[in-house]
Order: sequence, then structure tokens, then C-alpha cells
Amino acid sequence: MNPDSHYDVAIIGAGPCGATAARYAAEECSVLLIDRRKTIGSPVQCAGFLPKYDELEELMPDADLPDTFRYPASCAYTETRYQRFVAPTGDIKEFDVAADVLNRKRFDQYLAERAVRAGADLRIGTRVTAIDGRSIEIAGMWGSHTISADVIIGADGPGSFVAKAAGLPGIGADDDPMGLAHAVAYDMTGVEIDDQAVEMYFGRNFVPGGYAWIIPHGGTSANVGMGIRKAMCEPGVSFRDYLHRFIEEHPIAADKLRGGEITSFIAGIVPVGGARPKTCAGNVMIAGDAAGHLIATNGGGIPTAMVAGKIAGEVAAGVVNGRCDIEEYESRWQREIGMQIRTSVYVRKLMDGMMRSDSMMTAVMNMISPAHMKALQRGQLPDAVKRLLQGMQRRLG
Ligand SMILES: Cc1cc2nc3c(=O)[nH]c(=O)nc-3n(C[C@H](O)[C@H](O)[C@H](O)COP(=O)(O)OP(=O)(O)OC[C@H]3O[C@@H](n4cnc5c(N)ncnc54)[C@H](O)[C@@H]3O)c2cc1C
Repeated sequence: MNPDSHYDVAIIGAGPCGATAARYAAEECSVLLIDRRKTIGSPVQCAGFLPKYDELEELMPDADLPDTFRYPASCAYTETRYQRFVAPTGDIKEFDVAADVLNRKRFDQYLAERAVRAGADLRIGTRVTAIDGRSIEIAGMWGSHTISADVIIGADGPGSFVAKAAGLPGIGADDDPMGLAHAVAYDMTGVEIDDQAVEMYFGRNFVPGGYAWIIPHGGTSANVGMGIRKAMCEPGVSFRDYLHRFIEEHPIAADKLRGGEITSFIAGIVPVGGARPKTCAGNVMIAGDAAGHLIATNGGGIPTAMVAGKIAGEVAAGVVNGRCDIEEYESRWQREIGMQIRTSVYVRKLMDGMMRSDSMMTAVMNMISPAHMKALQRGQLPDAVKRLLQGMQRRLG
């Protein structure tokens, strides 16, 4: 790439969203994919849980799934078959979910390879520092340059620089202080776990306002983490303190985890407040975590980020080739994944009330069938569960 190059489309962020956008846009026009990381996918900030293709079709029935969901087996550490919910009292409910546990570094690199094979230029170790109309300033290990692009896609994660530069409103509503979760996790070896099951633990003493997870990585390895909300934490107790408390003291989990060795630590922000009210302006679109495209009930963002990335890439090519205007982006993602994102935020808000009381949370979990639990954590809300949750919420005041 020469300084002062021009591209039809510039995509900021080569995570699942940006790489998928680049793979689709590059079929039709010139594309530059930029990431500030020197190694794609590293450091990892994800537990890597991704339901299999059939499950994704059920999760997002209106979406046109990108072909990047068909990835080689080498992108996954292992496969799991069940999801197991553990209530604050230790009661257990379980349902089938066929899933892969991704090696996110390998997976992100595979997606970037797909973008490059489709014709995109990839520039790593490069941060976008300013955007003014079509002009983009970049700086990093290849020096500082100004490039230009007709269309810009911000796929740069929850703290999106591109969204701020385009003046797009923030993630979640101001009246939703619980709209951001903090996630912390360890990779561990030497743990005694069921390697077929992803486990999710609830209880405000261990995981205030969220859940802890054990996600198998094959054999005796696992990612062990939690997503929690600061507003519900005890003063002076850090997120990492909570994770240690869970590993060492949880009545069920500690027996599996206490003897394990911690091999790495990851942390990040998970935007669970819903999509930004506006996701495109001028020649800019934002997608994936940058836009709040995430299922708020479980904090899973890979599926929605990739669907939004495909839509952004296709619309960008359409704009460049005069087939559509940029507003089509917003109407397409709303049509394909908008309902799931909105419902998941509604369910999350109902569950936030229950999470303030362990006895209430346990009662709810005991009353909901495994099939309905599966629907809820996907961000769906069956009528019977809606009535139940609304009734409980009224009791809570
Ligand atoms: C601890 C944790 C565990 C998680 N576990 C799961 C899980 O198991 N399953 C799941 O589905 N989701 C999970 N998520 C959420 C998931 O990781 C995200 O939803 C997903 O990565 C979103 O993809 P994305 O491409 O939108 O953003 P990202 O993957 O965040 O990619 C954004 C990219 O933009 C780059 N970037 C940012 N700013 C700039 C800049 N100024 N210039 C250049 N590049 C820039 C970054 O380097 C990064 O590579 C987890 C999140 C966390 C924090």
C-alpha cells in the first residue's frame, strides 16, 4: 500500500465482523482492512463459544448467514453438546446445544485469510487516529499515512473510535446503567470438568449481575470466566477477586477448578445495552460490537457481528457501485437480526431484576423448562415465560 492510497472501502477492525465485511466487499471493489493488532486475533478477548451452523440458523432465522461460518475444524479447540445452568442454590438444568469452542486467534486469522483471498489488502499493526469525510489518518509500525475511502466501516469493537468520529450516538441508553458488562476469564489446565458441557453459574454472591462460565477446551483444559455488572458489585471487590472467589469457593465449581493451573488472563467489555440508535451516517457504517450487535442475555457477539459484517460489506459494495444508498445497511440488519437483539435486551432487563435476589433467581430457574431456558439465553421470549417474568417483576416492585 502506498501512502495516500485510495480504496473504495476501508474497514477498521479485523475481528469477526470486519474480516467478514472485507470478505464480501472485496468481491466487488477495492478494500483495505486495518487492525491495530500486530498479530490478528491476539491478544484473545473471547471465550470462543459458537453454536454450530444449524443452531445459528435457529438463532437468527431471518439472517442470510455468511459462508465464513463454514470454517475448518482447526479453528476450534473442541466441540460441546450441552449447556448446563446452575442456579444460586445449586439446582441444575441442562439442554442440548451443539457448539464449537473456537481458538479465537486461529479463527480470526482464518477470517482475515478469507478476506485477503477475496482480494482485500490487510494492514496490521496500524491504528486509525483520525477520520474526516473520506480521509483516514493511520499510524503504526509502517509509519503514518493518510488514505482515502469512499465508504468506511467501523468494526472496531465496543469502544469504537469510528463511531465517535462519525458522531454516532453511544451504545445503550443513558437510562440503562446495566448496559455494559465487564468480562474476565482465565484459561486453565488440570481442571476436572465435563468436556461435553458448557456450564453457566448464577448467584449474586459469586457473579453479581451476570453469570460465570466453564467452557471446555478439550481434555482437562477450559476457559473459566464471568461477565458481571459493576453496579451490582460489592465496593472494594475487583472483578478478578470475584473470579478467584468463584474458582476457590463456589460450592459446585470449586471442586472442579481449585487444583487447576492458570495459563492466561483475558478481560474485555461486553456491550449488553442493545444496538446504537443509529449505525450509519454520511459514508460511515458501524457493525458488530462497535454497533452493539450482541445477544444481551448471554453476551455472545460472534454470530451477530458476522451477520452484520456481511451486510455492511455487501451494502458498501452496493454504494460504491451505485446499487443502493448507505441507509440500506440499517434496514437490512434490523430485518435480519434486529428482533433478536431487541428481545435479548428486553429479557436481560427482566432478568436483571431477578438477579438482585438469589431466591427469586432460583425460583425463576426452577419454573422455566430447559427448552424455554434455551430460548431465553438465545434472546427469544416465549409467551409463557414473558407472563411469568412480568409477574415476578411486579412482585419485586
Ligand atoms: C472475555 C470475553 C469473552 C467473550 N466470549 C464470547 C463467546 O464465548 N462467544 C461469543 O459469541 N462472544 C463472546 N464475547 C463477545 C465477542 O468477543 C465479541 O462480540 C466479538 O469479538 C465481536 O466481534 P467484532 O469483530 O465486532 O469486534 P472485535 O472482535 O472486538 O474486533 C475489533 C477489532 O478492531 C480493532 N481495532 C479497534 N480499534 C482500532 C483502531 N482505532 N484502529 C485499528 N484497529 C482497531 C481491534 O484490534 C480488534 O481486532 C466475549 C467477549 C469478552 C470480552
